[in-house]
Amino acid sequence: MRKKIIAGNWKMNKTASEAAALIEEIKAELKGVSGVDVVVCPPAIDLKDAAAAVEGSNVGLGAQNIHWAESGAFTGEISASMLTDIGVKYVIVGHSERRQYFGETNETVNKRTKAALAAGLIPLVCVGETLEERDSGQMESVVINQVRESLADLGDDLPSIVVAYEPIWAIGTGRTATPAQAQEVHALIRRTLAEISSGNVANIVRIQYGGSMKPDNAVELLGQPDIDGGLIGGAALQAESFAAIVKAAI
Ligand code: PEP
Repeated sequence: MRKKIIAGNWKMNKTASEAAALIEEIKAELKGVSGVDVVVCPPAIDLKDAAAAVEGSNVGLGAQNIHWAESGAFTGEISASMLTDIGVKYVIVGHSERRQYFGETNETVNKRTKAALAAGLIPLVCVGETLEERDSGQMESVVINQVRESLADLGDDLPSIVVAYEPIWAIGTGRTATPAQAQEVHALIRRTLAEISSGNVANIVRIQYGGSMKPDNAVELLGQPDIDGGLIGGAALQAESFAAIVKAAI
């Protein structure tokens, strides 16, 4: 049985003090709630304050990006040790906004994923097709290729990762994949994971759905056999809606 994981991707929202305050609200909403991994991913500059706010709670802390080098001349980037040093445990890698606006490729996603794993961080590796790709019948080949290339050569670390299936047409649009559409792609991702691994690994890896998940559609999406959690954008910015999604995962 895979433990569900609900992660909030705050994107470029919330100052450090706002982040700490939102975490306090989330902790209050989730008092006594267990059985699901809960993660918040604030902007990088908020992480230190956020680390203090999550301390001693069951809310895990994640970053939104990581560089593959340990240190060096990479202006604006953040290394794995900078994240682990302040208590970060998870990191989103290859979000479609980074692929779309910041030149992220499957190759760089793979390098960032490896750096995260080497440091003991849990990467939430994002894949997903555009509407054009879906409408032109390329969804399967695009997603299979993203999984194969982004997760290439992870060896024994593969079971530690989380895959986030985020159809780009559903992100921030209010248009959600139906539970059946999402399940179909999650099953495809699991079959692809089975092809690149051995033993029971494909059944261990958790696959989150992301794309306009809200309290009113979470129960049905999270009830699908291969949907093991959610990566939440807009609805993660209010404690009440985020907590409602977490509770839907139990
Ligand atoms: C996201 O950006 O990862 C996301 C799923 O956003 P939203 O929930 O707002 O669609």
